[in-house]
Amino acid sequence: MDRRFLLAGAAAGIAAGTAAAQTAPGAAAPTAAVPNAQAPGFYRFKVGDFTVTTVHDGFVLRTNPLEGLVTNADAAEVQAVLEGAALPTRGLMNPYIVTFVDTGRGLVAFDAGTGAGQMAPGTGLLPRNMAAAGLRPEDVTLVAVSHFHGDHITGLTTRENQPFFPNAEVAVPAAEWAWWSDTANEARSPQFQRPNFANTARRFAPLRPRMRMFEAEAEVAPGIRAIATPGHTPGHCSFHIASGREQFFVTADAAGRPELFLRQPGWHSIFDFDGAIAVESRRRLFSRIAAERARMAAYHFPFPGTGYILEEGGGFRFVPADWTSIV
Ligand SMILES: [Zn+2]
Repeated sequence: MDRRFLLAGAAAGIAAGTAAAQTAPGAAAPTAAVPNAQAPGFYRFKVGDFTVTTVHDGFVLRTNPLEGLVTNADAAEVQAVLEGAALPTRGLMNPYIVTFVDTGRGLVAFDAGTGAGQMAPGTGLLPRNMAAAGLRPEDVTLVAVSHFHGDHITGLTTRENQPFFPNAEVAVPAAEWAWWSDTANEARSPQFQRPNFANTARRFAPLRPRMRMFEAEAEVAPGIRAIATPGHTPGHCSFHIASGREQFFVTADAAGRPELFLRQPGWHSIFDFDGAIAVESRRRLFSRIAAERARMAAYHFPFPGTGYILEEGGGFRFVPADWTSIV
């Protein structure tokens, strides 16, 4: 027998003996429980020289408000589409995905997630899945914010309202800041969106010294450009990322679940600030991605939330990428 096996066997014997000694006499041996945690949710691929990682932040089944989820279609029609997509029909299954891009000059996070333990149970998985992906909050150099809905900015700070990414600059759309930082706009916002004013004030209070604003179509960082896609919120932005000959889009909330809002791009979501403007932005953005055969990632698509877009039947079809290359 190989000497290494003998040594390994001896070490195992010692370890087993130690464990046995720690079990109280007469106590039942602990049974191995079936782990109830999902495999860590992250997914990685290259775009030119950049490395992209999409990280799962969890999901919720939003039973409220399924009634009225689509404000310009019948509930029965929405139910039929959900059924046709094999999705739950008693609510909206809403996943959350944060995309990270390592440009070689810095690590950029696109939005900040729901914050650990700050929103509904089932969310807040970003810190643990980042750790599994080898991404450390302190290594993030920039958070590029698409819009100020709670599920995108709450994770900027901890429950104690300390910055979650301690070394990151935070870049926000100027139009988004202008709307949500002015409480005079509260009465002019849909009821459902009014909590954003208080959350904006709270989350950005400790971040002001490191915050900067960007205009639509501006370069946010080398290789990363904002695309104005308003409607979901007044200043909602998506992002275009280019490295070498490859390009990639972060579409954020320009469309919610693809089974609903890409198949039926004319639908107005209850989460959209202005449904009609959101539809224009959605069609313009996804037509461009389809025409360019570019890869994209979205915030609320089924994990890992990345793939391609085809134009089909007056709407769009999401084709998940079933291959990846990290070299
Ligand atoms: Zn949103």
